[in-house]
Amino acid sequence: MNSKIGKNLLKNMKKDVLIIGGGITGLSLCWELACLGIESILVEKAPYLGGHVSQFACKATQTCQRCGACVLEDYLSKLSNTGLFELHLNSTIGSFSQIGKKFSSVVSHKRSQIINERCDDCNLCSKVCPVEGALVRPSFDSKLYISNEKCLNSIGIHCEACAQICPQGAIEFGEKTKEIQIEASAVAICTGFTPFDATKKARFGYQRIPGVLTTLELDSLLRTGNFEPAAFADGLKSVAFIQCVGSRDPKLGANYCSRICCGVSIRLARLLKNRYPEIRLSIFYMDIQTFEREFDKTLDQAQNEITFIRAIPSEIRASENNRPEVIYNGDDDLKQITPFDLVILSVGIAPRDPDLPKSFPVLWQNRDGFIGADENDVTAGHPGVFVAGAAQGPKSIADCISQSILAASRIKEYLDRAKMGEKL
Ligand SMILES: Cc1cc2nc3c(=O)[nH]c(=O)nc-3n(C[C@H](O)[C@H](O)[C@H](O)COP(=O)(O)OP(=O)(O)OC[C@H]3O[C@@H](n4cnc5c(N)ncnc54)[C@H](O)[C@@H]3O)c2cc1C
Repeated sequence: MNSKIGKNLLKNMKKDVLIIGGGITGLSLCWELACLGIESILVEKAPYLGGHVSQFACKATQTCQRCGACVLEDYLSKLSNTGLFELHLNSTIGSFSQIGKKFSSVVSHKRSQIINERCDDCNLCSKVCPVEGALVRPSFDSKLYISNEKCLNSIGIHCEACAQICPQGAIEFGEKTKEIQIEASAVAICTGFTPFDATKKARFGYQRIPGVLTTLELDSLLRTGNFEPAAFADGLKSVAFIQCVGSRDPKLGANYCSRICCGVSIRLARLLKNRYPEIRLSIFYMDIQTFEREFDKTLDQAQNEITFIRAIPSEIRASENNRPEVIYNGDDDLKQITPFDLVILSVGIAPRDPDLPKSFPVLWQNRDGFIGADENDVTAGHPGVFVAGAAQGPKSIADCISQSILAASRIKEYLDRAKMGEKL
């Protein structure tokens, strides 16, 4: 046994594939591998599964808008019935090495910080938490979790506000970890993306001007039932969506289309119209990108409900009564200043640091900073290491699943060749 592993090492485990990341990509890959009879182990650093999709609302109006959010629950349910994978939540890859054709890794598992049996859901912790989004309730699960990424403690700042207020003593900040040594023949990186940080587009006033939110925040408010038009002094009458925030913007180093944002804004706008028919909706855009199946139909329906303005605003500023005002050049090329009650920034998909140990093989990076090459290729730059989903580049849920199907078949080919003793 490796002496560095320490006394918390619980078990030594062998599986065919180590999957890093339990978002929709990691989960669908797990399922596809199981269908091929391949065993995998899935390591997810958050205390819950689903990645970003676990934070999405269902966008159905009278009809399904095909946002794909519900697909997550399908995979969770399908996977709960297969014995071919093992799951490690709250876990990260502590060390990594390769011996011959086998990869060896130590997975560190951190104890969940909310003890669900004690929690009575009084929500006092959410009220005192200083960081928006650090306490998370995934869409498929009624329990509350502490985000390992957002909680101040995860970035080395001591904070026990939630633990101190909890009357049930249900929150513990111990560093209790256990370690598991894993041996696998292949590795799949499904570590996903990070949403574009809208504060980098300072002229749009995010976190500075009241009433400026991101699509992710609006989605989350709608999902949790916390979207309250009545909270606006004169009611909520007008909402603008601004497209391409952090996409197709060479100055920000993001000279690519995030592929999902047009669909996301249109679905959110239509959902608002459906719930609050009086709202006036506008979408400011460069050009509408139609990557989704039957998107033209969605767009036709949306034209009746939303005003599409072909202009990317130069600035969003606060009006005298502290409402966001959008400044842009209209069709006649004249400067327009239009106030709205709410402005939603349609944030794009940015590459994320996969946060792997230094001993991990060096991975290819494509020109936009994502891992690997193009989407028809799931190799990551080292034999036996594969990549899929948003870690490889901006993608919708459906495209992540398609890529998982491709990755599963490539992994099977690789494992078969390895078993036959072929050169890899
Ligand atoms: C604003 C917005 C709205 C969107 N709305 C839609 C929509 O309506 N419909 C649609 O089809 N698509 C939508 N998308 C795109 C969708 O979010 C992605 O397609 C999907 O989340 C990608 O899944 P993923 O599993 O590849 O990545 P993620 O969802 O990012 O999941 C990655 C997982 O890996 C884990 N992880 C990361 N690093 C590590 C590590 N080192 N160790 C262990 N675990 C790790 C993370 O914790 C996370 O759980 C939207 C995107 C944005 C930005």
